Amino acid sequence: MARARKESTIVHWLGHADARARLAATVANERTAHAYLISGPEGIGKSAVALEFARLLLCDRPTDVPCHDCPQCSALRTLHHPDLHLIAPSGSPKDSDTPGSETFAKEMVKLREQLTLNPYAASDLADLSSSESKAARKKSATGSRIRVADSRELLHNAYRRPFQAQRAVYVILNADTMLREAQNALLKLLEEPPASATLLLTASNLQAVLPTVRSRCQPVRLQANSAQEVREALHGAGVAERAAELAAALSGGSIRRAVAFAEMEPEVLEQAAVDFLAMSAVLAPEKVQEQVQKMLEDVSFLDDAFFELMALFLSDAAACSASLKNSEPHFPSQAARIQKLSAAYPQASFGKAIEAVDRAASARAAGYTPALVLTAMAIELHRALGPRSRA
Ligand SMILES: [Zn+2]
Repeated sequence: MARARKESTIVHWLGHADARARLAATVANERTAHAYLISGPEGIGKSAVALEFARLLLCDRPTDVPCHDCPQCSALRTLHHPDLHLIAPSGSPKDSDTPGSETFAKEMVKLREQLTLNPYAASDLADLSSSESKAARKKSATGSRIRVADSRELLHNAYRRPFQAQRAVYVILNADTMLREAQNALLKLLEEPPASATLLLTASNLQAVLPTVRSRCQPVRLQANSAQEVREALHGAGVAERAAELAAALSGGSIRRAVAFAEMEPEVLEQAAVDFLAMSAVLAPEKVQEQVQKMLEDVSFLDDAFFELMALFLSDAAACSASLKNSEPHFPSQAARIQKLSAAYPQASFGKAIEAVDRAASARAAGYTPALVLTAMAIELHRALGPRSRA
């Protein structure tokens, strides 16, 4: 995603209603477990669900949602509560950047700010630090991880009495990045759970969590959000309707990805993709090269999303021409336009057209020049679409 992004979109939307209702019920019935492991694909809202549950656990008057009114809820608005502890991967190569150090404290403030604004943002301390220290960290052999020091600190604090609320909540974001020794330290805590602490772990990669840790946590599995849910989330964040639809189609159910796409003006990319399709359909192959050169005067459209949007558009056309009634289109608002396209090219092989687009995207990723990639794609698309209907 090379395009310049607009200002960050703030998302205050929470999907996963079933999982959240189940978690709320455990609070209402006073059957809260000592530890929960919230898992699912990246960017779908594991942190958002964990933080909402943390707010519910700390609230003085919880119903199925936090009351948003008690002293605990007030402090939790910005995630600054003495009984809410956040642990996130940082993988610092420097021993001085341990819990309690100045660098660490600064990063934690930034993490809280970021998660308050957008709980779907990546929760990695290394991404929040200055670019210099970030480069050093990414170079470190272990990558961005949760270290033993974090686990020891947790082990040290968790048996203390809470400061202000009825209990303390420890949220371990991306627990799948915990070093093995860090997980072993955590295991001690899970084996003898403190009376007044609840642990909330999130993980995209369950395989990276030790089975001994997994088995001691209540599992909460979250599914990718539907395109409709992603659209709603973006709408709630003030994204215009068409941009929300496009970003949702590109997101694969990840709110984080959808927000990133929504910030890249997907309508502009879509226009470029549709214009390119139209050009390929009508233009004789010998004229393509000249047209492509003209297009490349401004290369800002040349993003992965450009190819992906074209493929999604074509896949809607394929479903339309095959009259697949029960396949949900990626772009419901464009049904009439897609109908027209598939009617205009009765001999089209949309499957071949999609393959041409995929090949072009791979060639571009492999470093072939834009002129070559686009010229080849236009010629292949022209062949795949076949002659225009005379009717
Ligand atoms: Zn409250």
